[in-house]
Amino acid sequence: MHIGNYFGAIKNWVQLQDDYDCRYCVVDLHAMSMPYDPAVLRKNTEQMFVDLLAAGINPNRSILFVQSMVPEHTELNWIFACVCAYGDLTRQVSFKEKSEQLESKPDTFISAGLFTYPVLQAADILVYRADFVPVGKDQTQHLELSRTIANRFNNQFKAEFFPEPQVLATETPKVLSLADPARKMGKSYGPKHYIGLFEDEKTVRSKVRSAVTDTGDAPSEKLSDGVENLLGLLRACGKNDIEAAFRAEYATGNRRYAPLKDAAADAIVELTSGMRTRRAEILADRDAVKRLMRDGAEKAQVITRATMKEVRQLVGLPRR
Ligand code: ADP
Repeated sequence: MHIGNYFGAIKNWVQLQDDYDCRYCVVDLHAMSMPYDPAVLRKNTEQMFVDLLAAGINPNRSILFVQSMVPEHTELNWIFACVCAYGDLTRQVSFKEKSEQLESKPDTFISAGLFTYPVLQAADILVYRADFVPVGKDQTQHLELSRTIANRFNNQFKAEFFPEPQVLATETPKVLSLADPARKMGKSYGPKHYIGLFEDEKTVRSKVRSAVTDTGDAPSEKLSDGVENLLGLLRACGKNDIEAAFRAEYATGNRRYAPLKDAAADAIVELTSGMRTRRAEILADRDAVKRLMRDGAEKAQVITRATMKEVRQLVGLPRR
């Protein structure tokens, strides 16, 4: 995880725990739809689970689990695959984008799973009969498909069984790459472009210090994207007063950026050092992590088994 993921998504998931009964899962099955290495998948699944705990997902307030440990997701996936129209899947833009990405690589392999994963996503959501899903704009088409599937299921089996899940939209900041503020912060461009959420203090400070700003020589009215990005990071860390002070100073024509970089680095280090400590504590007891994974899956299955019992009855499958 990088700080873009944190400010753009995970921080919001942590806050949602105050107002909703939340279920969060590490989607290892979805990760299999793209070319992958089994050992890396196993490691990343556990790491993501630990990272979510360290970032503030509380297993006593939410259900946190690993997708493949709750097999009802895949059972409902097949039933939905038979409810979903082939044409609906061919219209998903994410498949076009991802398959084109893969086609540009040597030894291209495009799995059927990549084509059908929005159906599994519908199962991930509807197996909990969820009302809301906190997704970004890029996922609204998939959620639309989940609603289509819920409706078609209800019509076909003459039951008001699945609710139509709605997007839970929250305004979240877009964090830009430090080395190239024309792009979003992301891992694919290399380590200079992102700050890892659990990266050590020295690296964080050195990355922020080399962030691209502008020369400051001929200041125009407008601040550059790089400077806005650093100010945005201060705001995202809750340092609105410091951000306002820099804006006031820059409005007078004084455009010294070294103090801004120091303040942004301080704020990021302050926010992430607690999470880094918590992550190290969690990782020190791997058996406890395994236990949390099992507990999470068990809690999830109390819901998913009840859903599947009714679904099997509705669609004409024998009782198990
Ligand atoms: P995925 O393929 O699962 O969307 P990403 O790493 O692209 O994986 O994104 C995970 C989440 O983090 C998404 O909700 C995305 O919107 C958010 N996110 C990713 N990069 C940024 C960024 N630079 N700024 C803000 N949010 C981001």
